[in-house]
Amino acid sequence: MTAGEATIEATTTEQRRAALEAIAAEVRVCTRCKLAQGRTKAVPGEGHPDTEVLFVGEGPGQTEDAQGRPFVGRAGELLVRMLASIGWRRQEVFITNIVKCRPPGNRDPEPDEIAACAPYLQRQLEVLDPAVVVTLGRFSMAHFRPGERITQIHGTHAPAPASTGARDALAYALFHPAAALRSTDVERQSYDDIAGLPRVLTEARARRAAANTGAPVVESAAAATIALAAASAADEIGDDAPTLF
Ligand code: URA
Ligand code: SF4
Repeated sequence: MTAGEATIEATTTEQRRAALEAIAAEVRVCTRCKLAQGRTKAVPGEGHPDTEVLFVGEGPGQTEDAQGRPFVGRAGELLVRMLASIGWRRQEVFITNIVKCRPPGNRDPEPDEIAACAPYLQRQLEVLDPAVVVTLGRFSMAHFRPGERITQIHGTHAPAPASTGARDALAYALFHPAAALRSTDVERQSYDDIAGLPRVLTEARARRAAANTGAPVVESAAAATIALAAASAADEIGDDAPTLF
């Protein structure tokens, strides 16, 4: 057993819950960037402290700003329906955003705001140590899959850079649910993409298990082949689909 593994195993659900709440408490009173001025409530994020899957959106919208909770407006309702399509519930994952305060009029977050807010996301990643980070939309993708285009990589995964705070996670790119609300084509594609998420979790678990036993970590292309071979045995997400809890 490595020292790192021992540390992780020593971290209990309650310790993770407390660490996440400590981050949230800082976010609620944060004034590190100009988005603090226009917000009603900061939106730290919420979810299960033991989850293996972290969803990262862009920034709070009007409903989120009013309630202080992520993805509780129309985009959030669609996200919940998409989760239900693979048998998952929002309480079983963790949901947060790149910036924790609403940009005025839902404008794009600016580089200085993203940079100012990044340490909170980094700390959430360190506490949760997710196996999979699901990026919702361009800004989240740019953080975990830099240099890519959403239209080209949606529905695909790649290792998340360790500099994000993710110790060993696969980053899976989805369109933003708000984009799916604007286009039935994007909506259909989003359901197709999220249908692939259980397999990505299976692969991420295998990678992490291999890393923890000291076995060589399989090259991602080879791992993808293995995952596809396993997946081809089951036509649909079904019997072999991992549940979170
Ligand atoms: N859109 C986002 O990116 N995040 C939310 O929390 C809600 C809508
Ligand atoms: Fe602080 Fe992030 Fe809100 Fe800016 S967006 S004020 S950095 S919590």
